[in-house]
Amino acid sequence: MINHELFDVIIIGSGIGGLVTATQLAAKGAKVIVLESYLIPGGSAGYFQSQGYTFDVGASMIFGMGNKGTTNLLTKALDAVNVNLETIADPVQIHYHLPDNLDLKVDRDYEKFIQSLIAYFPHEAKGIRSFYNECQRVFNCLNNIELLSLEEPKYLLRVFLQNPLACLGLAKYLPLNVGDVARRYIQDPQLLKFIDIECYCWSVVPAAMTPMINAGMVFSDRHYGGVNYPRGGVGQIAEKLVTGLEQFGGKIQYKARVTKIITKQGKAVGVQLANGQVYHGKKIVSNATRWDTFTKLLPAENMPTNEKNWQQRYEKSPSFLSLHIGVKASVLPVGTECHHILLADWEQMTAPTGTIFVSIPTLLDPDLAPTGYHIIHAFTPDWMSNWQGLSESEYIAKKEIAAGQIIDRLDAIFPGLDAGLDYLEIGTPRTHRRFLNRMDGTYGPIPKRKLWGLLGMPFNRTAIPDLYCVGDSTFPGQGLNAVAFSGFACAHRIAVDLKLRK
Ligand SMILES: Cc1cc2nc3c(=O)[nH]c(=O)nc-3n(C[C@H](O)[C@H](O)[C@H](O)COP(=O)(O)OP(=O)(O)OC[C@H]3O[C@@H](n4cnc5c(N)ncnc54)[C@H](O)[C@@H]3O)c2cc1C
Repeated sequence: MINHELFDVIIIGSGIGGLVTATQLAAKGAKVIVLESYLIPGGSAGYFQSQGYTFDVGASMIFGMGNKGTTNLLTKALDAVNVNLETIADPVQIHYHLPDNLDLKVDRDYEKFIQSLIAYFPHEAKGIRSFYNECQRVFNCLNNIELLSLEEPKYLLRVFLQNPLACLGLAKYLPLNVGDVARRYIQDPQLLKFIDIECYCWSVVPAAMTPMINAGMVFSDRHYGGVNYPRGGVGQIAEKLVTGLEQFGGKIQYKARVTKIITKQGKAVGVQLANGQVYHGKKIVSNATRWDTFTKLLPAENMPTNEKNWQQRYEKSPSFLSLHIGVKASVLPVGTECHHILLADWEQMTAPTGTIFVSIPTLLDPDLAPTGYHIIHAFTPDWMSNWQGLSESEYIAKKEIAAGQIIDRLDAIFPGLDAGLDYLEIGTPRTHRRFLNRMDGTYGPIPKRKLWGLLGMPFNRTAIPDLYCVGDSTFPGQGLNAVAFSGFACAHRIAVDLKLRK
């Protein structure tokens, strides 16, 4: 079964990285098709609905939806295909519940956040300001330039000539990690641990291994464009991008699982689906992870040397154990914030069930749950290896024990949660692997050892001519705004390669 249409670009997967690439290219006039194995778009930024609840499957703390600067890439991606999405400003990024009674809210207002932190660590007032101000300097460099492909020399030259100081600033920070910068200013070990969890909660590695460029974005944009929740749920971002894609003549096909990238004389020329259907394209983009792309969609034994080297430097982060909970509204005290991080022992930060992430998006958009109820999404890092080799009944029993432990932890900050439960769905690393199509259900790549900041992350082109990668296993890594950046960069590079004029 061969589809005789020749597409300019075939995109494997409709995660936010894939969809931003698709919409950008469709808006430039390319003939684009997205092939998605699941029933709806979005991948880790997708959703599911059950018994009147609309649950985000993953992401819910959304950066990049502000309305100013150059780093609001989700807003820009939607605008590019003439669609928009109402958002609700989140007044607090995270409410931390940390060891030694460190109970702190990261307010949208920068000064308020700095004052709250200084109240806990008055002897480090100067260091706190110096560290976070340095993060702001990184952000100011990023927020002064148009963010496109670093693999395009003419763009690099143009941007450099327009803003040499911002570019030199970024070049300086590119090889740095947060831990090194934090230790220049801060001595208190407890405060350094706080900087660790500030990084860990999105990079899933401590500050010593978290690139300074990414931290500059997160630690500053939360006070600039802010964290904003899309009305109707995070899934609306992907749904709107698909609307825009189709308005610009692009296509998306669901239940279309790509099993093979077809190559001819070493170049990528098409893809084959599980049902045998074949599509041809001038350029092929994989939004699957690099592990999936280079071992499942292409023969592992021919893996290009640079991919092997990358796998020496980066490994798969853990997946998650996720609880999607519906709960009586009366369980949540007045003034509860949307996002929480729970950690009882600093030594357990990276251990399974050590850190618990909580999102309560119905505090921002009550329409996601039946009247009188809230959604709580609680998740904690967990490894595939903990969930393999179990019989069906062992698997179910293990899920229930694990969920009970998390509910007990949540009950400490939301007393009565257990009694107020209305709905519970438990997802394990196996669930993430199955529904998100990600090897071992991984959240994304993490450095195996301390690396030079972001220098080791690959861009969009691959060693295979006409094959590109996009998404969180390309520069600059995980997170919706980060993969949107990867999508802008990928589309930009392909547009130049295809000589698109718009
Ligand atoms: C529990 C959790 C919480 C998170 N919280 C946040 C947060 O609060 N804020 C934030 O910014 N980020 C968060 N993230 C991270 C963020 O969701 C991801 O980094 C981002 O969505 C990844 O996007 P992506 O484009 O790389 O692709 P993915 O989301 O992985 O999507 C890839 C798509 O490709 C499809 N696909 C894969 N292989 C094939 C194939 N062979 N054939 C056809 N289709 C295929 C998949 O089905 C999927 O739809 C979270 C992630 C998780 C899991």
